[in-house]
Amino acid sequence: MQLPYYYVQDAPPPAPAHHWDYRLDRADQALCGHSYDEPLYQGHDRPKDVCDRCEKLLPAWLTDLWEQWADEHEHADAAVDQKAERQIRGLQNELASAYEKIKQLQDDAWSRAHKGKRVKGVRTPRVSIVSGGLPGHGKKR
Ligand SMILES: [Zn+2]
Repeated sequence: MQLPYYYVQDAPPPAPAHHWDYRLDRADQALCGHSYDEPLYQGHDRPKDVCDRCEKLLPAWLTDLWEQWADEHEHADAAVDQKAERQIRGLQNELASAYEKIKQLQDDAWSRAHKGKRVKGVRTPRVSIVSGGLPGHGKKR
């Protein structure tokens, strides 16, 4: 991340340039509180001499900037987490519904194949879905 410094030259060099008032965004005062007389806007390139009072205030401003950035990203992460959780719940519901359909189809197929005959000791095979794997036929060891 490039720091968005902006320098303002209020008097010709060798007078030092000031930093833009990043904290309050005042157009008539520098970061250090210096009131401009006839500011010449310098832009982002650092002039040779920069006001010491402005530069001493930069760490506090940067700290605020980073805290603000961290807050924004924390909220963004939370929003992404919530969206992912909703998607996971949706997929879990779809999976449960698909599982029920498969079970019903298997029961129907089993009933048709055996036409209501009762076969002692034989049970309808069930689909078992192993977490993270493909559906199997539920054979247990
Ligand atoms: Zn200054």
